[in-house]
Amino acid sequence: MTFDTLGLSADLLRTVAEEGYTEPTPVQEKAIPLVLAGKDVLAAAQTGTGKTAAFTLPILDRLRQHANTSFSPARHPVRALILVPTRELAVQVDEAVRTYGRTVPLRSTVVYGGMPMDPQIKALRGGIEILVATPGRLLDLVGQKVANLAQVEILVLDEADRMLDMGFLPDIQRITALLPAKRQNLMFSATFSDEIRRLSRTILNNPDEVEVAPRNATVDAIKQIVYPVDRDRKEALLAHLIRKDDLRQLLVFTRTKIGATRLATWLDRQGLNAVAIHSDRSQPERTRALEEFKNGEIRVLVATDVAARGLDIEDLPHVVNFELPWNPQDYVHRIGRTGRAGATGEAISLVCIDEADLLRGVQRLLRRAIPWTVEDGFVPDRNIEPRPLRGPDSGAGGARGGSRPTHHPHRKPVQYRAGAGRA
Ligand code: AMP
Repeated sequence: MTFDTLGLSADLLRTVAEEGYTEPTPVQEKAIPLVLAGKDVLAAAQTGTGKTAAFTLPILDRLRQHANTSFSPARHPVRALILVPTRELAVQVDEAVRTYGRTVPLRSTVVYGGMPMDPQIKALRGGIEILVATPGRLLDLVGQKVANLAQVEILVLDEADRMLDMGFLPDIQRITALLPAKRQNLMFSATFSDEIRRLSRTILNNPDEVEVAPRNATVDAIKQIVYPVDRDRKEALLAHLIRKDDLRQLLVFTRTKIGATRLATWLDRQGLNAVAIHSDRSQPERTRALEEFKNGEIRVLVATDVAARGLDIEDLPHVVNFELPWNPQDYVHRIGRTGRAGATGEAISLVCIDEADLLRGVQRLLRRAIPWTVEDGFVPDRNIEPRPLRGPDSGAGGARGGSRPTHHPHRKPVQYRAGAGRA
């Protein structure tokens, strides 16, 4: 299968070839012709499947008829609106639009919270056809009358499942109420949960469904392994495994922000360059940490589920679940960070007795048992009694950074401290 048969125009085919893509990914193969035909699409595709190009390329082709060189902002209304849950994903999708659209004379920009509004306002005032946005900031800009959505022809909800997890449903409803009723809708989600199906019924119009991986399945290329270990020996086991196998470029997940910071500090003191990335960090700090991780200066990036959402790190060899997530679906999201674009990856889970239920939940979702192995020198002490885990709803520090759906104080000023954080 090549890109030539999908119906994309010659310049986009050239761009794709220049990017080094020799054949479309499964989601691209299925979604591109549907989007070009103007259909509504509901696609189940995880990060790393090439989903961004799957919607961006055909959108560029559909909108190119509107390209013009007028200096009047009125001639450049927002025609495609791409909603994303997080700042990181917003930046990445914007980059993708610029990359894939480099030969198409349409204007694009990105708006997200946690950054000064003025540059975003300036960009919008000049007129742009393709807008990538997080919901909260977009509504703020609409409220200030700088973003007008009355001429949107194509709406994309990217990582829609995560938007629901983060409490964005009311924002999404407010935004869709501002759009013309007649429009094309594309929704991408890692999984088709019942909530996603419900949302799709309210937004999509008789959609074609694209499902590239079996429901809730993890990518087969990923080798999964569980290490049973005592709760207070996890740090030592992680450092031991990193040294023993000379692991580099590890993305390590904790359930809480505080846990991420503690672990990163501990690993760093052991001489294993580690940094925590979470939503209390400023955007420039997060961007810098990500860059250093990508170029190998940082060996271990410790993240919460929310902070990791949308990080585009290609061919990541190792993902570590230092703590299993509350929500089994987050396990699928986490390990989807490895084994991208055909690369093989490894997902290691360090599981203590307190997490037995969480592990069962993951295995139930995957419909299979994950193989396990006991590391020499780290044999679990059978006399240790399980302790109840402090859940995301139990208040205090244990809640911070958890990724269970939290009840968001809707439309309050931007604030990052509550549970899942607001983009
Ligand atoms: P995404 O799922 O959109 O985050 O894309 C994951 C990664 O796959 C990105 O870094 C893309 O550059 C890359 N990619 C997208 N399409 C292809 C393709 N057809 N062949 C190879 N790599 C691709």
